[in-house]
Amino acid sequence: MEYLFEEVKENIYVLAIWDSAWNSYNNCYFIVQKEGITLIDSSKEEHSSYLVQALKQIGKTPEDVTLLLATHGHEDHVQGASIFKNAKKYIHPQERSLIEYPEPDQFHFTLLDHGVIQNFEYLWVGHHTPGSLAFYHQPSKVLFTGDFLCFFGDPLSKDGLVSVSNDLRLEWLEFLRNGGVEKDKLNGFLNGLIAMNVFDVDVMCTGHGGVLVGDIQLFVSELLTIGNKLQETQEKN
Ligand SMILES: [Zn+2]
Ligand SMILES: [Zn+2]
Repeated sequence: MEYLFEEVKENIYVLAIWDSAWNSYNNCYFIVQKEGITLIDSSKEEHSSYLVQALKQIGKTPEDVTLLLATHGHEDHVQGASIFKNAKKYIHPQERSLIEYPEPDQFHFTLLDHGVIQNFEYLWVGHHTPGSLAFYHQPSKVLFTGDFLCFFGDPLSKDGLVSVSNDLRLEWLEFLRNGGVEKDKLNGFLNGLIAMNVFDVDVMCTGHGGVLVGDIQLFVSELLTIGNKLQETQEKN
Protein backbone atom coordinates (compact mmCIF):
# COMPACT_ATOMS: atom_id res chain seq x y z
CA MET A 1 0.00 0.00 0.00
CA GLU A 2 1.48 3.32 -1.02
CA TYR A 3 -0.89 5.69 0.68
CA LEU A 4 -4.16 6.07 2.56
CA PHE A 5 -6.46 8.96 1.79
CA GLU A 6 -9.39 9.52 4.13
CA GLU A 7 -11.77 12.21 5.26
CA VAL A 8 -10.98 13.57 8.74
CA LYS A 9 -14.04 15.80 8.92
CA GLU A 10 -16.19 17.40 6.25
CA ASN A 11 -13.87 18.93 3.63
CA ILE A 12 -10.71 17.97 5.52
CA TYR A 13 -8.62 15.08 4.29
CA VAL A 14 -5.56 13.20 5.47
CA LEU A 15 -3.07 11.71 3.07
CA ALA A 16 -0.84 9.24 4.90
CA ILE A 17 1.97 8.17 2.59
CA TRP A 18 3.86 5.00 3.38
CA ASP A 19 7.57 5.88 3.33
CA SER A 20 9.40 2.57 2.91
CA ALA A 21 12.79 4.27 3.35
CA TRP A 22 11.84 5.46 6.85
CA ASN A 23 9.31 2.76 7.72
CA SER A 24 6.78 5.38 8.65
CA TYR A 25 3.68 7.10 7.42
CA ASN A 26 4.25 10.74 6.44
CA ASN A 27 1.06 12.77 6.69
CA CYS A 28 -0.23 15.74 4.70
CA TYR A 29 -3.64 17.37 5.08
CA PHE A 30 -5.97 19.12 2.63
CA ILE A 31 -8.54 21.60 3.88
CA VAL A 32 -11.01 22.42 1.11
CA GLN A 33 -12.62 25.86 1.45
CA LYS A 34 -14.23 28.24 -0.99
CA GLU A 35 -11.10 30.43 -0.95
CA GLY A 36 -9.09 27.47 -2.20
CA ILE A 37 -7.37 24.46 -0.71
CA THR A 38 -4.96 24.75 2.18
CA LEU A 39 -2.27 22.11 2.40
CA ILE A 40 -0.62 21.38 5.74
CA ASP A 41 2.85 19.88 5.04
CA SER A 42 3.91 18.44 1.70
CA SER A 43 5.94 15.25 2.37
CA LYS A 44 9.13 14.40 0.46
CA GLU A 45 9.67 15.32 -3.17
CA GLU A 46 9.55 11.66 -4.26
CA HIS A 47 5.99 11.49 -2.87
CA SER A 48 4.63 14.38 -4.96
CA SER A 49 2.75 12.07 -7.33
CA TYR A 50 0.68 10.79 -4.38
CA LEU A 51 -0.37 14.31 -3.51
CA VAL A 52 -1.47 14.81 -7.12
CA GLN A 53 -3.38 11.49 -7.10
CA ALA A 54 -5.10 12.32 -3.81
CA LEU A 55 -6.19 15.73 -5.10
CA LYS A 56 -7.54 14.04 -8.23
CA GLN A 57 -9.69 11.78 -6.05
CA ILE A 58 -11.53 14.88 -4.81
CA GLY A 59 -11.67 16.44 -8.26
CA LYS A 60 -8.84 18.93 -7.66
CA THR A 61 -5.35 19.66 -8.95
CA PRO A 62 -2.22 21.21 -7.40
CA GLU A 63 -3.29 24.54 -8.99
CA ASP A 64 -6.28 24.61 -6.60
CA VAL A 65 -3.98 24.79 -3.56
CA THR A 66 -3.71 28.45 -2.59
CA LEU A 67 -2.16 28.22 0.86
CA LEU A 68 0.57 25.93 2.15
CA LEU A 69 1.35 25.92 5.85
CA ALA A 70 4.42 23.96 6.94
CA THR A 71 4.58 22.82 10.55
CA HIS A 72 8.40 22.75 10.35
CA GLY A 73 11.32 22.54 7.96
CA HIS A 74 12.21 18.83 7.92
CA GLU A 75 12.40 17.34 4.43
CA ASP A 76 9.35 15.12 4.91
CA HIS A 77 7.23 18.24 5.52
CA VAL A 78 8.52 20.75 2.95
CA GLN A 79 10.19 18.98 0.03
CA GLY A 80 6.99 18.47 -1.94
CA ALA A 81 6.14 22.20 -1.85
CA SER A 82 7.46 23.09 -5.33
CA ILE A 83 4.55 21.67 -7.34
CA PHE A 84 2.08 24.08 -5.73
CA LYS A 85 2.68 27.08 -7.96
CA ASN A 86 -0.42 29.04 -6.93
CA ALA A 87 0.07 28.64 -3.20
CA LYS A 88 1.38 31.18 -0.75
CA LYS A 89 3.69 29.17 1.47
CA TYR A 90 4.41 29.96 5.09
CA ILE A 91 6.76 28.62 7.72
CA HIS A 92 8.27 29.97 10.95
CA PRO A 93 11.48 32.02 10.39
CA GLN A 94 13.47 29.79 12.73
CA GLU A 95 13.06 26.91 10.28
CA ARG A 96 14.93 28.60 7.46
CA SER A 97 18.28 26.97 8.17
CA LEU A 98 16.65 23.52 8.12
CA ILE A 99 15.48 23.86 4.53
CA GLU A 100 18.17 22.77 2.09
CA TYR A 101 15.80 21.80 -0.66
CA PRO A 102 13.52 22.90 -2.27
CA GLU A 103 14.38 26.56 -2.83
CA PRO A 104 13.74 28.12 0.62
CA ASP A 105 12.76 31.44 -0.94
CA GLN A 106 9.45 30.05 -2.14
CA PHE A 107 8.41 30.26 1.53
CA HIS A 108 7.41 33.39 3.41
CA PHE A 109 9.29 33.41 6.72
CA THR A 110 6.88 35.84 8.29
CA LEU A 111 4.96 33.82 10.85
CA LEU A 112 5.26 35.01 14.42
CA ASP A 113 5.05 32.87 17.56
CA HIS A 114 1.29 33.28 17.68
CA GLY A 115 -1.13 34.62 15.13
CA VAL A 116 -3.91 34.01 12.65
CA ILE A 117 -3.63 33.32 8.95
CA GLN A 118 -6.97 33.08 7.15
CA ASN A 119 -9.01 30.93 9.56
CA PHE A 120 -6.04 29.12 11.05
CA GLU A 121 -4.70 30.14 14.43
CA TYR A 122 -1.08 29.12 14.81
CA LEU A 123 1.15 28.70 17.79
CA TRP A 124 4.86 28.23 18.33
CA VAL A 125 5.24 24.99 20.31
CA GLY A 126 8.97 25.09 21.13
CA HIS A 127 9.73 21.41 20.68
CA HIS A 128 11.00 19.06 17.91
CA THR A 129 12.57 21.92 15.90
CA PRO A 130 13.29 25.54 16.90
CA GLY A 131 10.33 26.90 14.94
CA SER A 132 7.78 24.08 15.07
CA LEU A 133 4.22 25.37 14.82
CA ALA A 134 0.80 23.89 15.51
CA PHE A 135 -2.12 25.06 13.38
CA TYR A 136 -5.69 25.17 14.64
CA HIS A 137 -8.45 25.39 12.06
CA GLN A 138 -11.07 27.40 13.89
CA PRO A 139 -14.27 26.43 11.99
CA SER A 140 -13.67 22.67 12.23
CA LYS A 141 -11.81 22.50 15.57
CA VAL A 142 -9.09 20.41 13.98
CA LEU A 143 -5.55 20.80 15.32
CA PHE A 144 -2.46 20.02 13.25
CA THR A 145 0.51 19.22 15.46
CA GLY A 146 3.25 18.33 12.96
CA ASP A 147 5.97 16.30 14.67
CA PHE A 148 5.53 18.01 18.04
CA LEU A 149 3.26 15.06 18.75
CA CYS A 150 3.22 12.28 16.15
CA PHE A 151 3.48 8.53 15.64
CA PHE A 152 6.67 8.31 13.63
CA GLY A 153 7.44 4.70 12.70
CA ASP A 154 4.40 3.38 14.57
CA PRO A 155 1.73 1.15 13.06
CA LEU A 156 -1.74 2.67 12.71
CA SER A 157 -4.37 2.17 15.38
CA LYS A 158 -6.25 -1.12 15.13
CA ASP A 159 -9.36 1.05 14.74
CA GLY A 160 -8.01 2.71 11.59
CA LEU A 161 -6.11 5.81 10.52
CA VAL A 162 -8.83 8.27 11.60
CA SER A 163 -10.22 6.98 14.89
CA VAL A 164 -10.30 7.43 18.64
CA SER A 165 -7.03 5.46 18.64
CA ASN A 166 -6.96 4.59 22.33
CA ASP A 167 -4.13 2.14 21.65
CA LEU A 168 -1.95 4.90 20.20
CA ARG A 169 -2.78 7.27 23.06
CA LEU A 170 -1.77 4.65 25.64
CA GLU A 171 1.47 4.02 23.77
CA TRP A 172 2.32 7.73 23.82
CA LEU A 173 1.58 7.98 27.53
CA GLU A 174 3.85 4.96 28.11
CA PHE A 175 6.55 6.44 25.88
CA LEU A 176 6.51 9.66 27.89
CA ARG A 177 6.45 7.81 31.22
CA ASN A 178 9.50 5.81 30.15
CA GLY A 179 11.54 8.89 29.33
CA GLY A 180 10.80 9.03 25.58
CA VAL A 181 11.09 12.82 25.67
CA GLU A 182 14.69 13.61 26.65
CA LYS A 183 15.22 15.27 30.04
CA ASP A 184 16.49 18.57 28.65
CA LYS A 185 13.57 18.76 26.20
CA LEU A 186 10.80 17.86 28.63
CA ASN A 187 10.14 21.39 29.81
CA GLY A 188 9.76 22.69 26.25
CA PHE A 189 7.43 19.84 25.41
CA LEU A 190 5.23 20.46 28.45
CA ASN A 191 5.06 24.18 27.74
CA GLY A 192 3.94 23.39 24.20
CA LEU A 193 1.19 21.13 25.54
CA ILE A 194 0.00 23.85 27.94
CA ALA A 195 -0.08 26.38 25.11
CA MET A 196 -1.96 23.95 22.87
CA ASN A 197 -4.53 23.06 25.48
CA VAL A 198 -6.29 26.42 25.11
CA PHE A 199 -7.82 25.15 21.89
CA ASP A 200 -11.15 23.33 21.90
CA VAL A 201 -10.04 20.41 19.74
CA ASP A 202 -12.21 17.72 18.13
CA VAL A 203 -9.51 16.04 16.06
CA MET A 204 -5.73 15.95 16.44
CA CYS A 205 -3.92 15.53 13.12
CA THR A 206 -0.30 14.50 13.63
CA GLY A 207 2.75 14.63 11.37
CA HIS A 208 3.08 10.86 11.06
CA GLY A 209 0.44 8.13 11.28
CA GLY A 210 -2.50 8.33 13.71
CA VAL A 211 -5.26 10.93 13.49
CA LEU A 212 -6.98 11.07 16.90
CA VAL A 213 -10.70 11.77 17.18
CA GLY A 214 -12.37 13.03 20.36
CA ASP A 215 -11.36 13.82 23.96
CA ILE A 216 -8.17 15.56 22.91
CA GLN A 217 -8.02 17.89 25.92
CA LEU A 218 -8.26 14.84 28.17
CA PHE A 219 -5.35 13.21 26.33
CA VAL A 220 -3.27 16.38 26.61
CA SER A 221 -4.09 16.62 30.31
CA GLU A 222 -2.97 13.02 30.81
CA LEU A 223 0.30 13.79 29.06
CA LEU A 224 0.74 16.84 31.28
CA THR A 225 0.09 14.85 34.46
CA ILE A 226 2.74 12.28 33.56
CA GLY A 227 5.17 14.93 32.34
CA ASN A 228 4.81 17.06 35.49
CA LYS A 229 5.41 14.02 37.70
CA LEU A 230 8.52 13.15 35.72
CA GLN A 231 9.77 16.68 36.08
CA GLU A 232 9.25 16.63 39.85
CA THR A 233 11.27 13.43 40.22
CA GLN A 234 13.99 14.81 37.98
CA GLU A 235 14.26 17.95 40.11
CA LYS A 236 14.59 15.87 43.27
CA ASN A 237 17.44 13.83 41.82
ZN1 LIG B 1 10.23 16.57 11.90
ZN1 LIG C 1 8.30 14.38 10.14
